[in-house]
Amino acid sequence: MLAVMMLGLCACGTTKPQSASPGPTPRTSTLLAHAFVPAYRDPKGGTLIAAERLMRRNRLVEDWAQAANDGFVPPREVSVVARQCGTVNAFYNPQDSSITMCYEMADFMTKLFARPAPGQTAPPDEEGVEENVVGALGGVFYHELGHALIDLYDLPATGKEEDSVDQLSALVLIAAAEDQQDYSQIISTIEAWGRISQQTASRPVARETFADEHSLSIQRYYNLMCYLYGSNHNAFLPLVADGELPVARAVGCEREYARMSSAWHTLLGPHLREPLPVATQTG
Ligand SMILES: [Zn+2]
Repeated sequence: MLAVMMLGLCACGTTKPQSASPGPTPRTSTLLAHAFVPAYRDPKGGTLIAAERLMRRNRLVEDWAQAANDGFVPPREVSVVARQCGTVNAFYNPQDSSITMCYEMADFMTKLFARPAPGQTAPPDEEGVEENVVGALGGVFYHELGHALIDLYDLPATGKEEDSVDQLSALVLIAAAEDQQDYSQIISTIEAWGRISQQTASRPVARETFADEHSLSIQRYYNLMCYLYGSNHNAFLPLVADGELPVARAVGCEREYARMSSAWHTLLGPHLREPLPVATQTG
């Protein structure tokens, strides 16, 4: 997954080629090295047992922690914990440097994807639901990892941090997709935001929602779609041709993707476990 993290940070057309000359010293010391440490806490019971089983069955927390460790040696221990929270959420806590993925979020995603897709009447099969849940939870985790990295490395940021870490999540998922030729995780994440926005489409938007630090669900849906299209506009032209991604936004997506990729590259490059290779990708 280190390759994926590095690909994610290199997949930018505007990045100037990196020279092999010394940059900031990578954190390679293994003595007293800290790490991202996975853990599962038992749910108190009820429907969340199924959510816990889904996460354990797919080794989600283990794989997420491993992906983070492949990319970084954190300056302090960071626990990556799946647990019951009492609310549908996932969050990074800077007080104890922990990333929490709530079983309620897995349960919410399972119910979200168990409904028939728009235009379909039959509910999807369990395997398809689980694949979508795993993908969308990956999108959530890399969002939270973004919050963690901003805190751990005291990264500068302008604009909304919530938007920035959505960008990092998209970068990692798109890089993984390119690496594995499997776009299911980023597509499931986009699909999740589309479904969440549809659930609330008929209700008036509360002032608190407009004021929230997070962008609206429908905006997050279009942002991620724009990044995917911008990463490879030839492959994802149908998003625009079919009218899903408005042309007015689509025309700038390639540049938008390259810029945000370059920005994250600049911010995280010095902290990667291994130095970034010479950038050759121009897509
Ligand atoms: Zn967030």
